[in-house]
Amino acid sequence: TMILGIETSCDETAAAVVENGTKILANAVASQIDIHRRFGGVVPEVASRHHVDQITIVCEEAMRESGISWGDLDAIAVTQGPGLIGALLVGVNAAKALAFAHGIPLVPVHHITGHIYANRFVHELQFPLIALVVSGGHTELVFMKAHGSYQVIGTTRDDAAGEAFDKVARTLGLPYPGGPEIDRLAKQGKASIDFPRAWLEEGSLDFSFSGLKSAVINYIHNERQRGREISKADVAASFQVSVAEVLVKKTMLAAGRYDIRQLLVAGGVSANSRVRKEMTAAAETRGIPLVIPPLRLCTDNAAMIAASGTIGFLKGMRADLALNGSPNLAIEDF
Ligand code: ATP
Ligand code: MG
Ligand code: FE
Repeated sequence: TMILGIETSCDETAAAVVENGTKILANAVASQIDIHRRFGGVVPEVASRHHVDQITIVCEEAMRESGISWGDLDAIAVTQGPGLIGALLVGVNAAKALAFAHGIPLVPVHHITGHIYANRFVHELQFPLIALVVSGGHTELVFMKAHGSYQVIGTTRDDAAGEAFDKVARTLGLPYPGGPEIDRLAKQGKASIDFPRAWLEEGSLDFSFSGLKSAVINYIHNERQRGREISKADVAASFQVSVAEVLVKKTMLAAGRYDIRQLLVAGGVSANSRVRKEMTAAAETRGIPLVIPPLRLCTDNAAMIAASGTIGFLKGMRADLALNGSPNLAIEDF
């Protein structure tokens, strides 16, 4: 099965060609990070305009790099949602135009299923499994009994983990996106500050990061107000340890509750070195096979969309030219 994937849900314009859901023939990503950095975050209108600029170039680049021709494609898979509506529409419209022009089926993809399927480039998925999805907009535990079957068993009640990383980084005066900056800085610091961990009710698989975020921001403001010099590296390290500890403990709690054959970590925050290290150690202790994507497949890309789209294609999922972007698309409908 040969699939062209297209992704424009946030601030990367991406296209990729994937064979059999497992082999990447081309993976083109035009990142807008440098453009949004001077605003301290993604500006939706600016993102849409840059997607329009880049989409044709990126799709052509992916096709050229793959060495295949349009007639070799079985389908075009595109991110339908969730994401920024103006950004999603650029990818959806490009996919519709290409599918129509070349007479190829169109397959809608849920962005988060894409993050999960990035793991399939590392190891074949083995069901039942649990995926911890930690990204800029999501923090959830997803149970999968088979390909293309998603049951959310835990979710954040407020902020996503990535959002907390970005906001804490911003308060520390670090550039956007904050996650990689905190990760880097934390390596030079000590986790000496005792920030809270939100466990919620006993046994809950839900997350909460707004309390931690506020505690860190208040700490920074209070110290500054008292004229005390803060160690940014210690703040970064202490914050990161708190996030990683909660993510790992909740994931292990879930893993103990369900009879699973595999544990996956997905989304931008799975690039975090502390999360990777702690999760690897915890899974090893419990003898649970763990898969985490390589760094370049953790953040947004289109190879993951093509990989999830391959499953959708094989299940017979199709969209017609009425397909629209859906900013709040639910994973359980996929
Ligand atoms: P979503 O997938 O929920 O729609 P998104 O697509 O914007 O949101 P991703 O691209 O998956 O999110 O991930 C981006 C997030 O990952 C940002 O919040 C970024 O700070 C975070 N991130 C990236 N690298 C790291 C890292 N090394 N440590 C912590 N966070 C990181
Ligand atoms: Mg992004
Ligand atoms: Fe994402």
